[in-house]
Amino acid sequence: MEKSGKIVVRGIVQGVGFRPFVYATARKYGIRGWVKNLGSEVEICAKGDHFFEFLEAIRPGPPLSRIDSISVNPSDCAAAGDFTILPSGKGTLSGMIPPDVSICGDCLDDITCPGGRYQGYWATSCVNCGPRYSIINELPYDRERTSMAVFPVCPDCDSEYHDPASRRHHAQTIACPVCGPGISLLDQQGNHVECCDVIRETAMLLDNGSIVAIRGVGGFHIACIEESAGDLKRRLGRTEQPFAVMVKPDYIGRMTRLSAAERMILESIEHPIVVLEKRDPTAHPDISNLHTLGCMLPYTGLHHLLFSYLHHPLLIMTSANMPGYPMITDIDRIMAKLNRDVDFFLNHNRRIVNRCDDSVVRDGYIIRLSRGMAPRRTQVELGSPCILAVGPELNSNISIYKDGFCITSPHIGNVRNPGTFDYLKETVEKLGTLLGAEFDVIAHDAHPQFLSTRFARELAKETGAELVPVQHHRAHVASSTDQPCIGITIDGVGYGDDGSVWGGEVFAGRTPDFERVAHLEVLPMPGGDLAATYPERMLYGILPEQAVVEVLASRGWTAVELDILEGQLEKGINVAQTSSTGRVLDAVSALLGICREKTYDGEPAMKLESSAISGRPHVWDLEYLTDGPSEVLSTRTLCKRALLEYSLARKDRASDISDIAASFQYNMARGIAGLAIHAARDRGLELVTLSGGVAYNRAIRETLADEIRKAGLTFGINADYPLGDGCISYGQCLSAGKKG
Ligand SMILES: [Zn+2]
Ligand SMILES: [Zn+2]
Repeated sequence: MEKSGKIVVRGIVQGVGFRPFVYATARKYGIRGWVKNLGSEVEICAKGDHFFEFLEAIRPGPPLSRIDSISVNPSDCAAAGDFTILPSGKGTLSGMIPPDVSICGDCLDDITCPGGRYQGYWATSCVNCGPRYSIINELPYDRERTSMAVFPVCPDCDSEYHDPASRRHHAQTIACPVCGPGISLLDQQGNHVECCDVIRETAMLLDNGSIVAIRGVGGFHIACIEESAGDLKRRLGRTEQPFAVMVKPDYIGRMTRLSAAERMILESIEHPIVVLEKRDPTAHPDISNLHTLGCMLPYTGLHHLLFSYLHHPLLIMTSANMPGYPMITDIDRIMAKLNRDVDFFLNHNRRIVNRCDDSVVRDGYIIRLSRGMAPRRTQVELGSPCILAVGPELNSNISIYKDGFCITSPHIGNVRNPGTFDYLKETVEKLGTLLGAEFDVIAHDAHPQFLSTRFARELAKETGAELVPVQHHRAHVASSTDQPCIGITIDGVGYGDDGSVWGGEVFAGRTPDFERVAHLEVLPMPGGDLAATYPERMLYGILPEQAVVEVLASRGWTAVELDILEGQLEKGINVAQTSSTGRVLDAVSALLGICREKTYDGEPAMKLESSAISGRPHVWDLEYLTDGPSEVLSTRTLCKRALLEYSLARKDRASDISDIAASFQYNMARGIAGLAIHAARDRGLELVTLSGGVAYNRAIRETLADEIRKAGLTFGINADYPLGDGCISYGQCLSAGKKG
């Protein structure tokens, strides 16, 4: 007997080929009726003898979909004739558009298929792959609301679009060389380079050493071969920061030691940059002077075509923006900005609506949540209010909670820069519109001066939303678990309850109520931020003694400079106080002569880690102090030991320096684990979680985890959100949502 009903599917159901999937399934089970997009949902009207089999068959959805719920209302769908796909209607906005995904194997075959109509076409895609978030203006997801709207389909694409048997049935990004976006090669002056195959020509230019800006999915990359890396560094004035590379798949294993798990991440549909350990830590110095390399595989048709012509095995592919600034998305701006830094521009004319940097992963932990991984969507119950969380200041992103889901935007950058701050506001606007969000609550960092805090205040005034400040490190812990726990946060800076700079903290409690129960020793930062840029100042702040003065003097500090530093510390002029883990690692890096000036975020500590890779750690004595009710690990004592070891080390022996670096990391991690273990025992808590940017350091993270497990406790860490500040907006959102 025939059954009929109306089915509503919610979740990530648009931009994933849901309608063609339903259509094909309906045909298979002899179902009549229709399917359409409604707001962010999919509505199906179905009638037939095999109604229930049909319902079961659509439950899993197509590969890119995420289904939250399927509701069925028995109703007589007056369906006659066939099953059809109807035009979209307006409805509620609750789902989300999927992130941009890398080109699929089938489309790659199409590009390389001789004589096929997609042969050599750089923007080939289908319902299972290609750009999504980066091209969408608003939901429902149809071509006219994306940047593909200006490319009307040709008859061939049109018939494929309407062919139920095709992988491009209702593929909104369908395009071919006849009708789709085009590509062009421009010289420094913006003149078109005449050639018969733009991509082949670009590959040749790159092979010959040219530096080329390449327009991608979410922004521009600057590309060149390894031999041109030194030249690129000089042109960009970025002498120290490692570059990411795009590598031919069979070459990656020759440069790096990669595990099967890391290869899986490289080849996943997200295709992120994966930070891998070099086979030879000193190899490829022009790309990275660390022991690691950030590698990715080609992820678009354009990249694959480029690499098919390229003779070199890898290309440096660095974002064309300054670190911390937003991706540049239009050709005029990039030409104005880079015209002396790059030789050519490989441009296409598909507008980038929402920019997206490459995502970055290390040891399975997300460093940058962006292309392919964001918008990230997590089911979490925070009740009925709609919440906006505007994030921290550095490595920022935003999160919005609505109707049982928290959605986190792609990486935004350092909101200290006015350009990035505008991008933050734009992201709130765009993501808010896509979700149909009207904010009841706005969560922000506790720092009163952050631009993001001011923005939160202004927006709250406009909308009448309630403001909830969330302390930086409590947001870290909130992002790591929803269970009662001891939460360790180790990072660079965060505004503390007492106005000092926190960054090595241990909390006890459960979101949103965390009590700070232990921390690293509070140390002076002579010159405030200057001590972060020049870590030798930090070193002197920690150990203002003759032995350190002698080290600094031997490195060219003048007596006058040393006097000023001494006076500054004594009188407390412009001296901040900090319990930051990062600053202590910086100071040791400076002591050992590894890094004396920070030119990019985290540099001294990252170089210390690279040095420690080949070192053997020794057990040093730990000293614990108290600060009121809090236990304190004396990092000064550890630094003193490092200074002693350094005075005994053979300076010409890198192995001695590496041993001290390894020992310092090991003992500091052991000491921090001790703080957490004591706090867990005192309070009868089982779970100890770890968050913060220092947790990317493998040696420190693994020592902490080992010590905590050896003490019979459970070690927890969040692999779904960044350990660094990319988790803060998510943690703010949870903290605000769970508040009273
Ligand atoms: Zn495809
Ligand atoms: Zn076409």
